Amino acid sequence: MSEFHQAIIIGGGPAGLTAGLYLMRAGIRPLLLERSMPGGAPLNTWRVENYPGFPEGISGRELMDRFSGHAAAFGLPVREFTAVENVSLEGREFNVAASGGHIRSAGVIVASGTEPSKMGIPGEDTFIGRGISYCATCDGMFFKDLDVAVIGGGDSAIEEALSLANIAGKVYVIHRRESLRAQKILQERAFGNPKIEFIWNKKPVEVSGKNQVEGIVLEDTKTKERGEIPVSGVFVYVGYRPDTGFLGPLVDCDEAGFIITDEEMATKTPGLYAAGDIRKKTLRQISTAVGDGALAAVNLERYIIASGL
Ligand code: NDP
Repeated sequence: MSEFHQAIIIGGGPAGLTAGLYLMRAGIRPLLLERSMPGGAPLNTWRVENYPGFPEGISGRELMDRFSGHAAAFGLPVREFTAVENVSLEGREFNVAASGGHIRSAGVIVASGTEPSKMGIPGEDTFIGRGISYCATCDGMFFKDLDVAVIGGGDSAIEEALSLANIAGKVYVIHRRESLRAQKILQERAFGNPKIEFIWNKKPVEVSGKNQVEGIVLEDTKTKERGEIPVSGVFVYVGYRPDTGFLGPLVDCDEAGFIITDEEMATKTPGLYAAGDIRKKTLRQISTAVGDGALAAVNLERYIIASGL
């Protein structure tokens, strides 16, 4: 007989940890499965300034340590380094296939977040770990006083360019348009930072180097003219993509692959909820992930009570 839990939570970021806390307080027996260590995307964020209650800001790691500690204080069981490979329905129960075996459950909350998108250009894969990085917080210190490029014009790119400016020599922000989509407060800080130089209307077409990154080749989006700037590091922030393949036909997704839910975080499969960045939504923040996690948990609790599972 395989292991059974009333609820399986997949992913230990802000949404998953919040769902776990709420389920524990509701007297439901959940198990949280996390592919690596709990904390999720905020672990890669140098400073979080828009989560209410921390007017002076807080490091992403410290905030997520507090989330984990809070869930642990209510006894949430967390199984680390456990990747979910498949979720299927057997009768009214879910069968969750994970590294380490099969687990049955009455309900599932998918809160497994997203993966960084790649630029998809020559040299990118070759130099991962040798100058190409998707995490300034993790790798920034390797580029002390060296010149680096940040690719993208969203919140992630500008926030991480600001953090790199404290460490690196010069920080080039390379954007394919001439206006940013990042929040205004981040834009103003970046425009006022003497170590940050914006390069507009250019898209990266190749990362160059011998054994490590030595430069990035850019193409002008209007004239198609190409040129290279010498840099030792390239930090890629061109968005994030969800991985929902392990859910098969149990969920519907939008054209970008994000899970479609209703306002109660319910997917098309009864008992299966989605929360956080993996869900189709208009604002991906820690604060919205927390709200999603709470709603998913409360609705799963109601489902479990109503179905008698
Ligand atoms: P976004 O999708 O918001 O931005 C991606 C950026 O990369 C865009 O500027 C886009 O250009 C550019 N881009 C996309 N594809 C390419 C490509 N192939 N080559 C070059 N450039 C490309 O992603 P983010 O990671 O910035 O943010 C994701 C979500 O997380 C957002 O909802 C954001 O608000 C949130 N977030 C919030 C933070 C906060 O509140 N402090 C911090 C970090 C993220 P274009 O603009 O032309 O489309």
